[in-house]
Order: sequence, then structure tokens, then C-alpha cells
Amino acid sequence: MSSVRVRFAPSPTGPLHMGGVRTALYNYLFAKKHNGTFLIRIEDTDQTRFVPGAQEYIMDALAWCGIMPTEGPGLGGEFGPYVQSERKAMYKPYAEQLIAADKAYYAFDSAEELDRMRDQAKTMGMPNWQYNSVTRNSMRNSLTLPQSEVNELLASGAPYVIRMKMPRNQDVRFHDIIRGWVVVNTNNLDDKVLFKSDGMPTYHLANIVDDHTMQISHVIRGEEWLPSAPLHILLYEAFGWPCPEFAHLPLLLRPDGNGKLSKRDGDRLGFPVFPTNWTTSEGELYSGYRENGYLPGAFINMLAFLGWNPGTEQEIFSLDELVAAFSLDRVSKAGAKFDPNKTKWFQQTYLRAQDNRVIAAQLRELQELDLSDEALEKVCELMKERATFAQDILTEGAYLLGMPTSFDTETICKKWKPETSAYIHEWQKIIEALPDFSATSIEVAFKTFLTDKELGIGAVLLPYRLVLTGVGAGPGMFEISAFLGKEEVLRRITLGIEQIERILHEA
Ligand code: GLU
Repeated sequence: MSSVRVRFAPSPTGPLHMGGVRTALYNYLFAKKHNGTFLIRIEDTDQTRFVPGAQEYIMDALAWCGIMPTEGPGLGGEFGPYVQSERKAMYKPYAEQLIAADKAYYAFDSAEELDRMRDQAKTMGMPNWQYNSVTRNSMRNSLTLPQSEVNELLASGAPYVIRMKMPRNQDVRFHDIIRGWVVVNTNNLDDKVLFKSDGMPTYHLANIVDDHTMQISHVIRGEEWLPSAPLHILLYEAFGWPCPEFAHLPLLLRPDGNGKLSKRDGDRLGFPVFPTNWTTSEGELYSGYRENGYLPGAFINMLAFLGWNPGTEQEIFSLDELVAAFSLDRVSKAGAKFDPNKTKWFQQTYLRAQDNRVIAAQLRELQELDLSDEALEKVCELMKERATFAQDILTEGAYLLGMPTSFDTETICKKWKPETSAYIHEWQKIIEALPDFSATSIEVAFKTFLTDKELGIGAVLLPYRLVLTGVGAGPGMFEISAFLGKEEVLRRITLGIEQIERILHEA
């Protein structure tokens, strides 16, 4: 079998939606799995929809995800250039080749003429007029005009497009790896423009010429391109080229399963739909997974499961494990519902698995922190089980970095009994006398204290937590105590009790 070469072919019309990242990911996984090549090609033939910065955004987002292609703009490769506008000159001869083979034709109809036809059809009860194998006969093109007139028009520089001469009543059959056999009758297809009056090919022509000349073996792309596939198959046939294999990926659906996940849904429904932040030219911000604190591994792991599953219970996969497990056979046809909670779960799981040193370094980037590396790593260790994002460690664990700034009044009112302050003061005395201030020795001392006083654990442990941290839940109290150190614990007990009594007095 010839080698696997796949491409991700985004149009630079804006930032890359996470559905686009999933397409890139599946291409990447498929290529790596088969020791093949994953390349990126920028499809910018529609100059009217070009958005400055989009190409850079796409490259940066793929780099953040860790799924960089090996050929592409700025990356090199022997099949370049990889931006279609830079390949402009090569497409026209291919369009002319199709005309010579009677598979395409010149059409000279002006925009006004086309509008007139559409309007006429509408008044006759046909709202969806198409330029096709029937209507082309009453239009101004090289099939209806005398050859001499065609030559004159071309020589005079009259504007024209080149259209596909769609065969009449022919079944186009092709095999899709995900969908099986697909059959479409050409009577349902129009004479698509292949080459535009601005001298640029359309997406369809450029896509086929490039996939052929770049030796693409498999076309893996979104379901929205399935309707274009029959035309693409006919183009391969018209050129006499072998067809690549096709795999059309399922749509990404909104969390409620109601419709396609669109770029507007994200911030509206409270989750990002873009890999990284994007600000429009009007200054509107679409938020990204990166800036929301997601780890790229978690984002990618979540995306891999939107339309694919390994057929086992395993959910956590590194990129290398995904490569090993991935196969297009296990990609489903049905739309994949995006689940924001599951996405958070992936993030949480990845954060927990991360080395404390790595998290500590991330936190220092977020905020200037006045504590040693060792102490910060301990904070990470204590807090990461309760955090979803690295930054939660700083907010949820703020009391590990300094005195608590607020106290949970509700819990205090519920749990603080008239005798509690006295117990905590007694416990403070025991702490004062403790020679060793490790978590284990604090715990032993605490248990002895409870036994001696015949107290239940709840009577003292929660109040002790409240004086030290201000809140009713968190990591183990003996661990926290050892981390804060004896002096700080003693100080906090004194100040904490004062504060709590004030709160109770005011309540
Ligand atoms: N340029 C198309 C897009 O923006 C690519 C479709 C394809 O992969 O053939 O998605």
C-alpha cells in the first residue's frame, strides 16, 4: 500500500472552532498510526471571506494542542506552497484541461442575468433555481454560443467562469469509511463553478487538484463536506486520477443535542468553543480553552472522544496512547454531543496527574508568589485534589498563602457551640508543647486530646479548621497544620477565635 498522507485544510475565515481541531486531531492520529504524514493546507481561494490573523491563529492553536503537521506554511515540505493563493497560477490549466475533455465549459452570464433567471423561476413556483444540465441550455455559455462568439468573448477579455458539466441522470457511488456506500444521482447536482472570474479556482477545483498533487491518500473532514463529495468524485474521474479514500466525521452537537455547536454557543452557554482566545476586528472576544486554564492534554483527550471511542472502559489517553488506539472504524456516524461537565472532568483528572513542580511553575506565571518552591509545591499537593484548574489552587487555597481573609459565617453559626472556644484554647496549649510538628505527631496528639477530654472528633476538628482556614472544608487538617508551622498555627488560633467570636456576637 502506498504511504498514508492526510491533510487538514482549513479556510482562514476566522478562528478554528473546536470541531476543526477535532478534524485536525483525527487526521493527526490517523497519520501517526500509519506512519504517515499529516500536513496542513490553507484554503484561501475565497478572498472575500479572508480574515487577517486567522492562519496564524490556526497554526498557534495546533501547536498548543501538540498536533503540529510536518508539512505546511512555514514548515516546508516538498509539495508546497501550502497556501492556495500562492498556488494560484497552477489551477487554470487544470480547468482548461477539463474544458478540452468536454467535462467543463465557459459561462459568460452576468450576475444580473443569473438574478433574472432566479427571479423568473421563483415567479413560476421554483424557488431553488440552479445552473444545471437542463437550465444550462438556455444560458450564455460555450455550450450554447457559436464557437466563433466564444473565441471573441475570450479574446476580448469578457468576464467568465468555468463550470462543471454535470452529467445527466448518472448515479455517483462512492465508499465512505465511516458511512459506507453513498449514492447520489447527478440530477440533484448543479453545474458548480470551478474557476471564478477573479482568476481564482473555487474550493472544489483547488481542493481536488491539491489533494491529487499533494498525493493525499485519505480525505478526513467534517460531515458538512459530504454533499460536495459526489462532485469531487466526478472531478477525479474527469481528470482520470485515482480517488483518495473518504471519511466524513460526525457533527459536533450542542450539549442538549439540539443542533450543531456553533461559535456563538460557547460563551453563551458558559464554555469555550475555541482552542485559544480570539478577538474579532470589532473587538469582540471569544474565549479559548487555553486562556480558561485547560491543559492541552485534557482538551485533546476530550475532543478525541467526540465521535470516537476505544471500545473499552479506558477514558484517559495520552496523545501517544490515542495514536495507538485510534481507528476510523470506531468513529460513529451519529452527531457527537459536547459535554461541558465531562470536559471539566478531563481537566480535573489531568491536573491531578500533573507533577507538583509543573503546576507550581504555572502558578508562578499567573501570579507573583512570595513563597519557596518547596512550599508552593506542597500547596499544589494539598490543593490539587480539590481543584479543576491550576488557578483554583490559589483561590481555594488562599489560606495556605496567608491569613484567611474571610470566614464562613453560616458554618460558624451552625457549628460553633458556647464551649467550643475553650476546647480550641486547650488544644492550642497542647500544640504549643509539641516538640515535633509533623502531620503524624499532630494527629497522634489530637487523638489523645480527644480521648482525654472524651470529645467526639466533630466537636473540635471542624472548629479547628474554621479558625485556621475560615472555611468548613479542605485538605487534611494535620497536613495543613504541619504546612503552616507551629508559630503560624498558634497565631491563627488566637486571631481566628477572636474573629469568630466577633462574628457570633454580631450575628
Ligand atoms: N477548506 C475546507 C474547510 O474549510 C476543507 C474541506 C476539506 O477538507 O475538503 O473546511
